[in-house]
Amino acid sequence: MKNLKHIINAILGVSLVCSSVTSFASSAKSTVDERPNILVILTDDMGYADVGFNGSTDIKTPTLDALAEKGTTFTAAYNVHPFCGPSRAGLMTGRYPHKFGSQFNLPRSSRAGGLGIPLEETYISKVLQDAGYFTGAVGKWHLGEKPEFHPNNRGFDEFYGFLNGGHDYFPSKFKAKYDKDVERGFNHAIFGYLKPLERNGKEVEEKEYVTDGLSREAVSFIEKAGEDKKQPFFLYLAYNAPHSPMQAKQEDMAQFPEITDKKRKVYAGMVYAVDRGVKRVVESLKATGQYENTLIVFLSDNGGKPKLGADNAPLRGRKGSAYEGGSRTPMFFHWPKQPISGKIFTHPVSTLDFYPTFAELARATIPEKKKLDGKRLFNHIMSDTNPRGDEMLYFMRHRKGFSEVSGVKNNWKVANISGNKWQLFNLANDIGETKDLSAKYPNMVREMVAELEDWSWTHPQPLWFHIHEEGVQWREMAMPRFHETFKVTN
Ligand code: CA
Repeated sequence: MKNLKHIINAILGVSLVCSSVTSFASSAKSTVDERPNILVILTDDMGYADVGFNGSTDIKTPTLDALAEKGTTFTAAYNVHPFCGPSRAGLMTGRYPHKFGSQFNLPRSSRAGGLGIPLEETYISKVLQDAGYFTGAVGKWHLGEKPEFHPNNRGFDEFYGFLNGGHDYFPSKFKAKYDKDVERGFNHAIFGYLKPLERNGKEVEEKEYVTDGLSREAVSFIEKAGEDKKQPFFLYLAYNAPHSPMQAKQEDMAQFPEITDKKRKVYAGMVYAVDRGVKRVVESLKATGQYENTLIVFLSDNGGKPKLGADNAPLRGRKGSAYEGGSRTPMFFHWPKQPISGKIFTHPVSTLDFYPTFAELARATIPEKKKLDGKRLFNHIMSDTNPRGDEMLYFMRHRKGFSEVSGVKNNWKVANISGNKWQLFNLANDIGETKDLSAKYPNMVREMVAELEDWSWTHPQPLWFHIHEEGVQWREMAMPRFHETFKVTN
């Protein structure tokens, strides 16, 4: 990672994306690199109302709440997609995953069927690595498992975690099951959630509750980064909590004696373990002198599943939905060195925006041919202006024989959830999408639907399907059937 190019970049800050960035990250004229560290903390399937800073009344998240209070909280932050794989693909590539055939989760089969996010989509991690950042990914990957799709080959110097879409939490249990399957001669047939974790491609034996193991590894990365202040770091800490399987430590659940619902209690314990982990991470940033100049971004990858104990209130819908509950996520930015403390940012932002925003902060060069769908956020945070003006944010999730689609433009939201009826909501006073205003503003519906339709024609056929049967249905039903999706009958 420390080749000559990196060192030159670090010292001279030569690869400017845009000169205006100097207002956010001091010009690196000295030998000390003053570009910020960037730490993304992603939770998995966490509901809108499942952290204190975003309205939870029963789940305690003291560390996250304290960071949110001292940072900028986003009230209209969106994931690119309402479930895991495409959401993460959007974050890493800065593009709608629909545009490069990655609309579905990778196949559930062993080794993800050998598939992964197309290599021509340069990840933000690679751009930051090339700009001289020390880069690490800890936790869930879910973007391809073959060597060419591995984090170490997509811009991460260090990786600790697991490559598939989830993992069991208690090593004593998952290791016993795994050992039994190995004894039975299984290899390809072993469920990915039971497999050993890995470090840079080599299997390791994780001995801690997985959330604690990931926190430990994040701390270890931060300590390593702290040894050489000349090189800023980018850490992508992707906790699988509170994604299923629902498994919490007794001591974490004991934090919530007032929660009587069993599912909610387990879920609360899993979220609390993340908060404990973030506390350790913050302490390590302080201990290594990196706290002041680290941008911490916290969010979930998509909405929660109420049947597993999550709460998306006051939003309508849940994980997988094109209603707000699918993609609107609690989010904050925290960065002591910048005056963003105490701000509440209400304009719509997307994880698509991370790529150009981080590249700007790092004064990194984005490959000339790289296409991006996001916006640079910092000027807008400082001036409290809408990063995308009248541009729409698009959401599309394919179902059996139809698609759930929605679009958000300023405060307006148009949505087709059932496949045959368009609704219109004013999110400014109806965040819960309860009052359909489509009959009152038919022209606005037509205009917004037409814009969504234009966007949809940029999508190639999906490169894969999560479940084989989905692919069969897709072909048999002549999907995507956009001629039906974008018909406005009301
Ligand atoms: Ca997820």
